[in-house]
Amino acid sequence: MKLACAPAVKSGLSKQLSIVNETKPGVKKLAIGQYDGGLEKDNEKRGSVVSGEAAEILALDHSVHTERPIGDWSLHSFEIGRPLGKGKFGRVYMARTKKEPHYIIALKTLYKSEIVESKVEKQVRREIEIQTNLRHPNILRLYGYFHDEKRIFLMLEFAGKGELYKQLNKNGRFSERRSARYIDQMADALQYLHSKHVIHRDIKPENLLLGINGELKIGDFGWSVHAPSNRRKTLCGTLDYLPPEMVLGKEHSEKVDLWALGVLTYEFLCGNPPFEDLNGYNATYKRIAKVDLHVPSSVSAEAKDLIERLLVFEPEKRLPLSEVLTHPWIVKYRSSAKLSKGEAA
Ligand code: ATP
Ligand code: MG
Repeated sequence: MKLACAPAVKSGLSKQLSIVNETKPGVKKLAIGQYDGGLEKDNEKRGSVVSGEAAEILALDHSVHTERPIGDWSLHSFEIGRPLGKGKFGRVYMARTKKEPHYIIALKTLYKSEIVESKVEKQVRREIEIQTNLRHPNILRLYGYFHDEKRIFLMLEFAGKGELYKQLNKNGRFSERRSARYIDQMADALQYLHSKHVIHRDIKPENLLLGINGELKIGDFGWSVHAPSNRRKTLCGTLDYLPPEMVLGKEHSEKVDLWALGVLTYEFLCGNPPFEDLNGYNATYKRIAKVDLHVPSSVSAEAKDLIERLLVFEPEKRLPLSEVLTHPWIVKYRSSAKLSKGEAA
């Protein structure tokens, strides 16, 4: 296979990657599980070569014209392990660098032609650029990327405990302690994002992963905005996390993330989003537009207070992140978490 490789991240890659190397002293290699041959199977029947402007955009640099690999990374750099999941544009695998010290990553494939068919090539490119530059313990790191004629490969931080969505489904809802710890981490990550003028706009349990110590990791930067996850669509519509200004088609700002944080707090504690309506899309739309919010009595007064301060119609009146981080409900559980920082349960 011919690989035209883009330089991943130009400098300091091994230093960055070392934080995901979970090899303990004395333990030679962390198990990455059994590879199922899915990359080759997919590549035979899936996708087509992309050329022209779209190829330029998706190459993320000009190496698409280069015959020889010019970057540090290619598919040959990795041993591929167990499948972690399937994304909209390709599969995700656990992988390990062949070279010492055998860094562990999640390798996510994206078929260029499928991105082009969905008309999201600029969005994908922008999101990759954004995620590459973010450094926060609660934001999934994108260490770099490389590509061949048909695919882009993203080298992502491995989220050892998988999807938060699955945990929520399994448990029905989370305890106040666990919810508060997640919201604390979310607020911190969002504050960081907003300081970089990045609005996430698509916060929901499906886009959150859990690190090896149960810490929350925001993944999925943005392209799900254009193509919402099927799970959510079939489950309860796609509107659930959208604020009034977005469902009403008005201009929106970073305050949309504050609203979504309120929805997330509610969903963690109650097991379903606050404006979900089994009568469908229109009914949910109406409930969001008039902020038809009822917090069940099982939720503590402090948590209810936070939810009600975030789910406010007027974007400017929503509780700012700095005040979320000092809210009594958040502070209460943070102090008890001191000895096990990052622990979620
Ligand atoms: P979808 O629309 O289904 O969410 P997607 O294109 O956004 O697809 P991802 O959600 O990024 O794709 O990846 C698909 C699945 O692969 C995830 O739901 C998760 O189970 C797994 N996965 C993705 N990235 C990682 C990671 N860094 N660590 C562990 N598992 C991951
Ligand atoms: Mg996803």
